[in-house]
Amino acid sequence: MKRHILMTMMMLLLLLLTVSCDLLSSWFGDIAGNPPDSDLSGNTQDLCEIRNNDVPYYNKSEYDYAEGKGYFIELSPLDEYGRVGMCWGLFDKDHMPDYERDNLDTNPTGWHQNYYDPSIVHGGWLYSRAHLLAFQLSGLQDNPLNLMTGTRDFNNEGMLPYENITADHIKEEDTHRILYRVTPDFGDGGNLLAYGVLIESDCLDCDDDADFCVYVHNIQTGITLDYTTGRNWLEDANIEAEDPSALPGAEEFIINTSNRRFHIPTCRYVQNMNEENKLEITAPKDWMTSRGYDPCSACIGDESSSQ
Ligand SMILES: [Zn+2]
Ligand SMILES: [Zn+2]
Repeated sequence: MKRHILMTMMMLLLLLLTVSCDLLSSWFGDIAGNPPDSDLSGNTQDLCEIRNNDVPYYNKSEYDYAEGKGYFIELSPLDEYGRVGMCWGLFDKDHMPDYERDNLDTNPTGWHQNYYDPSIVHGGWLYSRAHLLAFQLSGLQDNPLNLMTGTRDFNNEGMLPYENITADHIKEEDTHRILYRVTPDFGDGGNLLAYGVLIESDCLDCDDDADFCVYVHNIQTGITLDYTTGRNWLEDANIEAEDPSALPGAEEFIINTSNRRFHIPTCRYVQNMNEENKLEITAPKDWMTSRGYDPCSACIGDESSSQ
């Protein structure tokens, strides 16, 4: 969270130097509405924006509902386009998952996965299957009603720090319950990729600075996104990134992201690999090596040395 605040402060300083006060007040003004106004969400370069002075929009009947129900999770059904909707729940320590996270297979709407140079998109892959209600809070696994297509920045830099605030509060105050709601914003048309989400978090058992109301934009620095389809391009080149799994000779590999070595899935080294460092990829072998990944000598062999 500290890094986040620092980044925000740096952005603010930069803005103060370059942008007139008029424009500033319109960017940081209170943009009310739930679900939030999608017209504004597309016009900003900030990943996260506090809404409603950081106070969740819950009304009395929603608080009453939660108090009456106790622990709960509710997920909206998919809409006519197959898109996720508002999800919420009342979370507490007793119901936090004590089990491992599964791999995710659901392809949410707008899922056009592409790989970019890791100097542009950290880790290379543009999209993540983003939980609306975080796994660490809800314990929900590969549930299609709770997964949306989100950029790397959206998921890791945008949502995760806020999810951690909520989870940390629940762990610290183990009798406290947090009413937590995530509303995806697809705009008014039939967009398959969301502009962002509104996250609201309010502890029912204390007045705490863990409470927040924030809009996280589904954007990625350096990448242009088409929100109608989820297709994506390098901002400068205006050329769609290639999908390596569609190239001739594509095979399944497992990358160890800690040393950039790649293996066939059955390699014995894959069994011992730290789950966090595993990355599945389908691509031709020469595509992998041209991007700086080294073939495992045990399962693939170093062909370049035998030539
Ligand atoms: Zn509390
Ligand atoms: Zn291997």
